[in-house]
Amino acid sequence: MLGERRMKRLKENQKCDGDRPYIIKEVVEKVYMYNPNYGDDRICKCGHPYYRHFDWMEDNYPVGCKYCQCYIFEEKE
Ligand SMILES: [Zn+2]
Ligand SMILES: [Zn+2]
Repeated sequence: MLGERRMKRLKENQKCDGDRPYIIKEVVEKVYMYNPNYGDDRICKCGHPYYRHFDWMEDNYPVGCKYCQCYIFEEKE
């Protein structure tokens, strides 16, 4: 029963598609965000600590290392 009703609604939606100038496409953005559980003092291969690879002023956006050109944090072995 429920399945049938859902199918019907789907068909109605499709019927409307031709009347709209735009269809909506959902875009999922993947951003490498700061992980507070990772450990701020871990050292990257560039020699600078983990937290320096994010911008505290910009919502912890991954802007890359503030001291050098290192963009992606990789822990030093
Ligand atoms: Zn680095
Ligand atoms: Zn660095």
